[in-house]
Amino acid sequence: MLQPPPAEPGMREDEVDTPALLLDLDAFEANLDRMAEMVAATGARLRAHAKTHKSPVIARLQMARGAVGQCVQKVAEAEALAWGGIPDILVTNEVVGARKLARLAALTRIAEIGVCADHPAQVAALEAAAEAAGVRLKVLVEIDVGPGRCGVRPGPEAVALAERIAASRHLRFGGLQAYHGRAQHMRTPEERRVAIAGAVEDTRRTVEQLRQRGLECAIVGGAGTGTFALEAASGVYNELQAGSYCFMDADYARNGEPPPFAHSLFVLTTVMSAPRDGAAAVDAGLKALAVDSGLPLVWGRSAPEAGGVGYVGISDEHGTLRWEAGAAAPALGEKLRLVPGHCDPTVDRYDWYVGVRGGRVECLWPVAARGAMQ
Ligand code: PLP
Ligand code: MN
Repeated sequence: MLQPPPAEPGMREDEVDTPALLLDLDAFEANLDRMAEMVAATGARLRAHAKTHKSPVIARLQMARGAVGQCVQKVAEAEALAWGGIPDILVTNEVVGARKLARLAALTRIAEIGVCADHPAQVAALEAAAEAAGVRLKVLVEIDVGPGRCGVRPGPEAVALAERIAASRHLRFGGLQAYHGRAQHMRTPEERRVAIAGAVEDTRRTVEQLRQRGLECAIVGGAGTGTFALEAASGVYNELQAGSYCFMDADYARNGEPPPFAHSLFVLTTVMSAPRDGAAAVDAGLKALAVDSGLPLVWGRSAPEAGGVGYVGISDEHGTLRWEAGAAAPALGEKLRLVPGHCDPTVDRYDWYVGVRGGRVECLWPVAARGAMQ
């Protein structure tokens, strides 16, 4: 059930009900501007990944700054964006199942839609769905450039699949999907450089073999927040799919030479029981925060020189804060900003973004594709 908004425009930040998903609008807009500038200086385009934000409002702000479209992982996310007026959407993922395929094909009536495949059986199913809907569907071949998740092997296997797509009456070959997910959070710049150099080489070779068969790749897509500068400089990738850059989570900040973006997304939490013995409970636990990439940081208070308050334990609806003797203890009822370890699945726990600027609530935006996992 959709939850009521935790705030109203004009409220002070400390009046926002918690746990709430807080967006610091100045930092967020600066991140969008920074990425737009960085991408404009390259030959590549930005097709930002909406798996992070799940919001047509944010998609529009990215596109107003030059992004050519959006990426999604799920058909239901594509629906939320298309129904929200986003005109160009790429499902950077395989889609299996007749019901999903019918929904996807239907969307091509209101938006430019692309999808990925990595097996001939998927191509046959996509062709059947497109024919039944009376549409032509754009299909990219996904190649596995290292992470071992989805994708055919680069080279001849990819060429054979592309030829099968091109030969299907209701499909159109759209190019290559070549995302190296594991490289994004590799801790040293050198590890990331080596991983992406390999991905670029696999992709370059496949693009060339496709060209020899008369198949041009309109899209050569990949890259995330951790590596996009490398793909952009490759001369091979022409679309960058970074998502997390707009929010910048705690785990990305742990990368060596981290991406040049500021934390703009926070979970606002309340100290909900009387602090004692250097510890207190807050009201944001596992149901309010994704912790697969580590526990959150207490914004402005985590560093020892800032009073050293750590978020050290978590259960369903509670978090435990601890601090050393002499630190400024959080008070009962105090509201604190937490920086989530991993932004995308944290966002998916909320119905509303609470946009704040200068200590006041400015806007409430729905997380329109919350729960859109089909
Ligand atoms: N492209 C694809 C295919 C992804 O799966 C992801 C994230 O997992 C991204 C792009 C965006 O990555 P990030 O949010 O790290 O920028
Ligand atoms: Mn992520």
